[in-house]
Amino acid sequence: MKDCLFCKIVQGEIPCERVFETDTVLGFKDISPQAKQHYLFVHKTHTQNINELVSQPEKLTEIFQAIKTFTRESQLEQTGFRVVSNVNSDGGQTVFHTHIHVLGGEALGRFGN
Ligand code: 5GP
Ligand code: ZN
Repeated sequence: MKDCLFCKIVQGEIPCERVFETDTVLGFKDISPQAKQHYLFVHKTHTQNINELVSQPEKLTEIFQAIKTFTRESQLEQTGFRVVSNVNSDGGQTVFHTHIHVLGGEALGRFGN
């Protein structure tokens, strides 16, 4: 998708700190971390948000399989982590390429605003 930030990251046109990659999924560090560990997981193909992605459930599964493998290998599973996907304006979505935030590395507060 032209002019999509995360498509450019996937294609290597914009640098990122990659932490996990498969043929179809990329995990990388968030540039503005909201927890000690904060990663973004994206499918390499473009969709706008989780509601659009869910019509291609195999892609949703690929993202969550990647998160499962990564959190197991990085020990985050043991200490615990949170997944979040913001949708549209009130949800606080700022990048319109579906992404799952993975937050952890410390005890997180309850949900807030
Ligand atoms: P959203 O606000 O759409 O839920 O999440 C977008 C996330 O992308 C934000 O947490 C923001 O810090 C992150 N972000 C924005 N631009 C970049 C970038 O160029 N590189 C990386 N690694 N993260 C970015
Ligand atoms: Zn995109």
